[in-house]
Amino acid sequence: APKIIGLTGGIGSGKTTVARFIEEFGFPVYYSDERAKDIVNENGDLRSKIKDLLGNGAYDEKGLYNRKFVAEKIFNDNDLLEGLNGIIHPAVRNDFEDWVKAQKKYLVFKETALLFELKLNLQCDRSVLVTAEDNIRMKRVMDRDGKTYREVQAIMEHQMPEKDKIKLADCIIYNNTNLEDLKEHTEKVIFDIE
Ligand code: ATP
Repeated sequence: APKIIGLTGGIGSGKTTVARFIEEFGFPVYYSDERAKDIVNENGDLRSKIKDLLGNGAYDEKGLYNRKFVAEKIFNDNDLLEGLNGIIHPAVRNDFEDWVKAQKKYLVFKETALLFELKLNLQCDRSVLVTAEDNIRMKRVMDRDGKTYREVQAIMEHQMPEKDKIKLADCIIYNNTNLEDLKEHTEKVIFDIE
């Protein structure tokens, strides 16, 4: 079985950029958050469980997951949020396990924003953190998404502080300079993983 490397980073750290570099170096990357969005539409068992929890409105007339309805439903209801996560997270985990079985490389990467928050690092052989100074992440996200300073700040305040992630990570990619440096660091870190 391949080694599983968890890849994470806070908002605007550059984890998606690093994931693309990793693919360019020939290693497969599983994008957990993207897959979670697909699975709620693809997996029939998951669909029934979500409807049981939140009501039929969780899916629209076309049968597509209704993100807005769900967000409103779980807003300020922690039990429902936990219930929903308790349904979706195991489904993503199963999907990931199936995906891993189909891979042939000795290393595979699992990109997820909440690697440490959800303790998913415990299900990985190693963890890689992409990190950058808060002010640099702030600027990148404001430029990328057209969000205001306050909007980005609110998201950052909800995430685990970088200093705590740094303590938990096995490998750290600092992304405070340019994309050339980032690619070089990425290459060095992934080919050093044993
Ligand atoms: P999120 O959690 O918000 O999805 P992320 O960690 O996946 O963010 P990216 O989308 O990879 O971060 O990077 C954020 C933005 O910053 C992107 O527009 C990306 O192109 C840019 N960026 C990342 N690293 C650098 C760098 N070293 N130099 C210049 N721009 C960068």
